[in-house]
This record gives sequence, C-alpha cells and structure tokens, in this order.
Amino acid sequence: MSKRDYYDVLGVQRTAEVTEIKTAYRKLAIKYHPDKNPGDQEAEDKFKEAAEAYEVLSNAEKRRRYDQFGHAGNSASGYGAGGMNMDDIFSQFGDIFGGGNPFESFFGGGGGTRGGRRVQRGTNLRIKVKLTLEEIAKGVEKKVKVNKQVVCHTCTGTGAKDKGSYHTCNTCGGSGSVRRVTNTILGQMQTTSTCPTCNGEGVEITAKCTTCKGEGLERGEETIAINIPAGVSEGMQLSMSGKGNAAPRGGIPGDLIILIEEVPHETLKRDGINVIYDLYINFADAALGTSVEIPTIDGKAKIKIDAGTQGGKILRLKGKGLPEVNSYHKGDQLVYVNVWTPKTVNKEEKELLEKLKNSANFKPQPGKSEKSFFERIKEYFE
Ligand SMILES: [Zn+2]
Ligand SMILES: [Zn+2]
Repeated sequence: MSKRDYYDVLGVQRTAEVTEIKTAYRKLAIKYHPDKNPGDQEAEDKFKEAAEAYEVLSNAEKRRRYDQFGHAGNSASGYGAGGMNMDDIFSQFGDIFGGGNPFESFFGGGGGTRGGRRVQRGTNLRIKVKLTLEEIAKGVEKKVKVNKQVVCHTCTGTGAKDKGSYHTCNTCGGSGSVRRVTNTILGQMQTTSTCPTCNGEGVEITAKCTTCKGEGLERGEETIAINIPAGVSEGMQLSMSGKGNAAPRGGIPGDLIILIEEVPHETLKRDGINVIYDLYINFADAALGTSVEIPTIDGKAKIKIDAGTQGGKILRLKGKGLPEVNSYHKGDQLVYVNVWTPKTVNKEEKELLEKLKNSANFKPQPGKSEKSFFERIKEYFE
C-alpha cells in the first residue's frame, strides 16, 4: 500500500501552521478513535495514518525532511508498512489534548491499577556499610542487622482483625476498579477508575488489626547477609532487590540500598585502584642500599632499596593494589621513597657530616642519571 501525502491525510495546506496541524489531527483522532469504532479495521488504519502524519508534520525537523524528500525522508524513523504502534500514538495525546489524556484510564494507563487490583510496594531502605581496605581488596560478606518494616505477625499483612473482619469489596467485586460512563469533551465515554470503597485493593476491612492498626506492617529486625564484591569504593551504592521494607497485603517489598563507606587505613592510602605507601629511609641507607619491610594490603612485603636511591623515587609493586569491580584487572602498590633528613644533629654527627660535605661524590648532580620530578610524575600517571 503506497502512503498518502501527510498533508492530504490531515487535510491541511503545505503552508499550515503547527496549531492548524494540531487541530486537524485532534479532529481525526476523535473521529477514528478505536473506542468509537470498535472492530472497524478501516477506522483503525485511518487513526494510525493520521497519527503518523501528525508525528512528522508537528516536528520541525521531520517536516523539513518530508517536504524535501517525501516519505523517504523519514524512513529511518521506522514508520514502515505497519506504521506507528498504538502505544506511541497514545503517548502523543498528552501533547495534543493539553496535559490530560482523556483515553488514559480506558487503556489502563493509570499506573498502580493496571490490570486490576492495586499492588502495593514497600519503600526502599538505605543503610551504610563501613569497609576496611583489606575487605575491599578481597570482597566480603557482611551480616547486617536491619531495623525495618516487616509484615505484621498478627494479621499476616491483611490489616484485618481476624478472618471474619474482611471480605471482597462489594463495590468492585474484588477487581479494584470500577467502570463508569462519563460525558467528556469527546462525547460519551466509558472509563475505568480505582474503586473508591477499597482504594483499589479489592477487599474491605470491617475491623482493623490492633497490632498494626490496619497497616499490615510492624517494625522488626532482620539480619541480612550482603555480598560485597571486591573493588568497591566510597560512595558507591549497591542494591538488593526485595530486601527493603515489606509491603502490606501481599505486595512487593522495596529494595535495600547499601551505601559503601571506607575506613581509612593506618598506613596505606587508596588512589583509585592503586595503593600508595609513603616510605622514609635514612640518608645512609639511601646511599648504601638496604632492604626494608613494608605493609601491603595482604601482609608484609620485603623490598630492596638500591644503593644511591634518590628521595622521590617511586617503586611499583605490580598487582599489589585493588581489583576493579567485576574485572580481573588489578592496580599496583606505589612506594614513594622519601630520604629522611635529621632535624637536629649532635656534635659527633656534625663533625662527620662536615667531613663528608666537601667530598666530590656529595655534590648534587641533577639530570645526570636520575629522572626529574616531572618524569616521575608522568610515569606515575601512565
Ligand atoms: Zn496487623
Ligand atoms: Zn472495591
């Protein structure tokens, strides 16, 4: 079937203003609406055709392409032989009918009441979990006692005093919704709305449970085992579906949102997936070389300091950092070597230093064999 010209479909001039296009479409949408023409395939086709024409002509960019290239201009937007689907069409209506969509309740777009009875949802619960760097490095299971809303033990969530104090709602027969014929701007229309008697729950309670006062919920405690993957970081949020506050009357519980907090480490500092350690050695060790024991995330490690090591050197311990979340990639531990300069010296030390002072080897020779500060920084960020 070849497509009709969009301007012809809406019955407007090629120079029509957007407001004219809107008015023309509004008339056609009402005329061919499936509710007014049940089972009429031709009306449905016309309804879809008008929606598609409006979709293109009401959009400046699509309209420009259409004017220039015809139907081919918007083929990429996906309105092939089947045209727009009904959901797309109805989502346009907020636009052309100015806010309220008069068809919405009829098509069950009313959110909570879709498909009948209202299903309640529990609220989300937020907790903080403190983790050490060691726990972050390996991942950990944390058992946390959570104070939350649980299903009332007396009424098992019904909110009713006993079995005899609730019954199927007489107004809606348990469906949670009522049908009504109303007069709208579009003429007489049948609409569905939430049952006012039971608030969409389908049951009526004649006597409330005394423990929860009809809420169906009470405060309680639950110990929840939370599996925290390795590599998480401060401020990250994990979510466990269904572990939040309970919902009354057989509803769906909310989620548990876990906010990660890091406990600062005594000697190591985190920098993304890398771990930094500030090492201080004395001048003699820097000159003669030595071997020192340093802390890492998984215990002590021995590292060798070469003779003639300059202060500011960065040693890299490959793979001794933190893992990335859900990845095999691991960071490194970086050891910043600082040469400690004594703040005071005694007479004997002073004499020794005076003797060394004038030795040719003690004259600084920057740039000869050592990397500059900038080179070291660059290397660090690679
Ligand atoms: Zn109760
Ligand atoms: Zn009802």
